Formats: sequence, structure tokens, C-alpha cells
Amino acid sequence: MNTMRAAVIHEHGDRDVIQLEQVVVPEPTDDEVRIKVHACALNWLDVGIRRGPQFGAVPLPLTTGVDVSGVIDAVGSDVSDWSAGDAVTFYSLVTCDDCEYCRDGEVTVCPQHKIIGEHMNGGLAEYMVAPARNLIAKPANLTHDEVAALPVVSMTAWHMLISVARLQAGETVFIPGAGGGVASMGIQIAKYAGATVIASTSTAEKMERARELGADYVVNYRDKNWVDQVIDYTDGRGVDVAQDLVGAMTWADSLRTLARNGRLVVCGSHSGKSFNLRIPQIYHRQLSILGSNGGAYNELRHCLELANRGILRPVIDRALPLSQIREGHRILEEHDHFGKVVIQVA
Ligand SMILES: [Zn+2]
Repeated sequence: MNTMRAAVIHEHGDRDVIQLEQVVVPEPTDDEVRIKVHACALNWLDVGIRRGPQFGAVPLPLTTGVDVSGVIDAVGSDVSDWSAGDAVTFYSLVTCDDCEYCRDGEVTVCPQHKIIGEHMNGGLAEYMVAPARNLIAKPANLTHDEVAALPVVSMTAWHMLISVARLQAGETVFIPGAGGGVASMGIQIAKYAGATVIASTSTAEKMERARELGADYVVNYRDKNWVDQVIDYTDGRGVDVAQDLVGAMTWADSLRTLARNGRLVVCGSHSGKSFNLRIPQIYHRQLSILGSNGGAYNELRHCLELANRGILRPVIDRALPLSQIREGHRILEEHDHFGKVVIQVA
């Protein structure tokens, strides 16, 4: 039986629960393909699953890894659109197609949805299988590392800003934690949409990188008065949209940056899951708080096309070999990065 190297977790816990093991190479079912993985980017999801999932249980042992670029090496008997040798990435949500939300095209709220790399094995292994219907051809102008750096963060940022918050040209958006993967995409997508972008981050170097991505104005959140700086920049009005993935640490300040009628769009809470909300500030200033969950297949396809045309740039902090997977988790947990950490598997 053929075996391969894979990063496997058998239990939840700190970084040393991640084991590099030899496991059996998976066989695709009739409607799946097998992918030889070249690159797999890490997401906060990998860390969250390792620590213990927020929503329901995941099957163990498990190989995580949601953002993959690779080459098909075997196809199931019912797969006709794809062949061995095709370079691909994929959409990571596997939806039921049958619930009222799926039938309305609202797949991101399908109650039955599963995620490749969370509920089934993902790309932190030499080979993985994925449903053929989730595949998207690898954008030809990008490397495997660059492609792996895009799917989750680009579709999440697109869904938050364009589909949920309905960001319009001429509006102003505030994006905290600019070094995060979704934030670094959010800056670029908001600029593409014609918005003015204000970002926050923690060091002079990261501030410069946020400007390079297109941010019009960047504040250092270690400055005590950074919220006032944001509001001053908007001539005292505040921003129309704040895109927040950071959670409890930033919500109160993100709300303070908003103009009257402003929208806070949220997806993620890794700095903490709850904080004290002053309810009057919501209704008095007529604010909206909008939840956003992942992204849709077509949003991902569109983002990949924009990246292939050079309009969205993958933001890679560094690439590491699979043997340094624990170091990759450390970098995310200690916020020691600007953009994506990519694991090179082949
Ligand atoms: Zn469904």
C-alpha cells in the first residue's frame, strides 16, 4: 500500500499535538479527484481546529489545510471535466444543495455545510482528495505558493465587503489588523471597489506594507489616540464600513470609528468571543452589525480571476516546508506575520 507524509492531529491541544506521520495515500471516490499537493496556506482555522473546534466536533485523526494548490494525479470514475495533470485549487465549502438556503444560492449559511480540511482531510499532506465539483483551474499567471495564499482570505474579504456590507465607491472603510490575511485582501478589494481605505496595524514596517497594498491612511493601534486619528482623517464624520475579524480586542474601537448609519461587518473572533456592548450607541447612531460567513464559489472564482490579472496580489509572509508545520502555527498564534504563511509540500 502506498504511503505519504501528512501532518496529523489525533487530539486537540497545543502545537505539539501536530504529528508528521506516514499514512495511506487516499483513493478518490467516483465524484472526487486526488490532488498532489504543492502548496497549502495556513489559516486561523487550522489553529482553531487544533485547539478545539468552536462549532461541533471534527473527526479525529485529521489532517487540516483548506487552501491548496496542486496537480490532479487521479480522477474518480464519474469525473469527466478534469484529468490527471490539471493544475487546480478548490472551493473549500461542501454544501448540501438541498436546504432552503442552498436552493436560494445562500450557500454560506447552509446548516449542513462541511469544510475540506475541517470535516474531512485537507492539504497538509502530500496527497488529498476533493470533490470534482469544488475544483477551480489554477490561475496560470500565479505560482502554486501564490494560489494557495488566496482562496479563503480573498473570498472571505469579498463576501464581507461586497456581498454583505455592500461597500460602494466613494465610501470609507476601516480595516483593523492589516497584517491578517483577510485584512490584507480587504484593503485591495475595497480599493478595487473605489472606496477610501484606512487600516490599522502595530509596527512601522507593517504600516508601510499596508500602504503598499493601497491603504490611503494607516494608523498604529499602539498609539493611544488612534481612533481620534481615524475620525480626524474623515473630517470628524467616521467611516461607513469597518471590516473586523479580530474580535473582542477591536470591536469597541471599530464601532467608535463608524459614522452615523455605519456598518460593522464581522467574520472571526480570535482575540476573544465576547465584550460589553453599549446598546444605546447602536441605535442612537443607527449602526448595523453584519455577520459574514466564508464566501461563495463564484466569489472565489472572481477573486482568482482578478489575481490572475494582477488586480489582487497574494500577500505571502513566508513559505515553510511541511516539516515546520508547528512553526507555522506559532507564527499565526503570535501574530508574527504580514499576510499568509504557506506550507510547501512538494
Ligand atoms: Zn444546504
